[in-house]
Amino acid sequence: MKNLEIYIHIPFCIRKCNYCDFTSIVSDETIKERYVEKLIKSIENFNSDVSSYSVSTIFIGGGTPSILKPEFISKILKAIYSKFIFVEKPEITIEANPGTLNREKLKIYRRSGINRLSIGLQSADDEELSILGRIHSYEDFLQSFNLAREAGFNNINIDLMSAIPNQTIKSYRNTLRKVVELNPEHISAYSLIIEEGTPFFKNIELFEKYPLPSEEDEREMYYLTREFLSKNGYFRYEISNYAKEGYECKHNLGYWSMTPYLGFGVSASSYFEGARFKVDKNFQIIEEEKPSIKSNIEEFMFLGLRKTKGVSSKDFRNMFNQELEFYYKDNIDKLMKEGLLEKEIVSMDEYLLSLTDKGIDVSNVVLSEFLLD
Ligand code: SF4
Repeated sequence: MKNLEIYIHIPFCIRKCNYCDFTSIVSDETIKERYVEKLIKSIENFNSDVSSYSVSTIFIGGGTPSILKPEFISKILKAIYSKFIFVEKPEITIEANPGTLNREKLKIYRRSGINRLSIGLQSADDEELSILGRIHSYEDFLQSFNLAREAGFNNINIDLMSAIPNQTIKSYRNTLRKVVELNPEHISAYSLIIEEGTPFFKNIELFEKYPLPSEEDEREMYYLTREFLSKNGYFRYEISNYAKEGYECKHNLGYWSMTPYLGFGVSASSYFEGARFKVDKNFQIIEEEKPSIKSNIEEFMFLGLRKTKGVSSKDFRNMFNQELEFYYKDNIDKLMKEGLLEKEIVSMDEYLLSLTDKGIDVSNVVLSEFLLD
């Protein structure tokens, strides 16, 4: 059996955050209910042959999935459980925002098989949260986190953000300290990017009042994340993701290793049987062009090199029936000479190729070397 991952998109939020460019809207209960009905139908009607796959992970993301009635989440999962075969202990994650969780909801999640929670905190500073347009305070987050622990969640991710307007190195360090004190199993730490079309992008004048950290400070926050988290027992397994031993996000690892995945819900993407497709706003599946071998190889390298473990020459050979060097020998030699890539020999017929710390710092430049002409 081959592994398969499932992504469920819930595109609803209480309010739009100022930096958000995800597919999410503010809606009433009737629309949410109708959405869930359509989503379940799309799962039930999915008619590709999946008999040779077992589902290893489900990720319910958004939006804010935790604003749905928990019974809806149970129903969605039920539809998936009846449609697919599963590995023994699949990882089942739901994204939640502080202020949208309560005891009852968490209990229903646990009963429905959800065993991992990803909580969007972003910052432990209330003023920064308000600048970001978040719906919650740090206190709300603490309550949600503690309730989740009480409900038995022993695999929790906390999302953090650096380079927030008005943020200082001191306040960011404080956020890191407070979060680490809570001992979550996983921390994702991204830098704020002002994307086109977001409220931040449309209100640039806001940054006169709340200045963005300088490039040097942003850099320092980036290094601080790495050092602080590693000193506190979190190892970096991907450019922006840190975990305690054994708690890496299996869903993300699968994605970065090009494990096939099916996405259900508006704007969800799939990569299945070598084809890529997407769900449009009417729940219709739009088949994208079948990717060429060249673009699959590039994707394999781009995603794989995000992992600190890197890409395996054996996996490459198994996937593309060709040696990694066949495509990239000169680039690899050059990048190794520059100290941006390193090789670890695993056995006679396998090595791991990964970015060095210096390579991670300029990952965009390094990854562009893996574009094929
Ligand atoms: S909670 Fe997440 S998805 Fe919703 S608006 Fe904020 S950033 Fe976007």
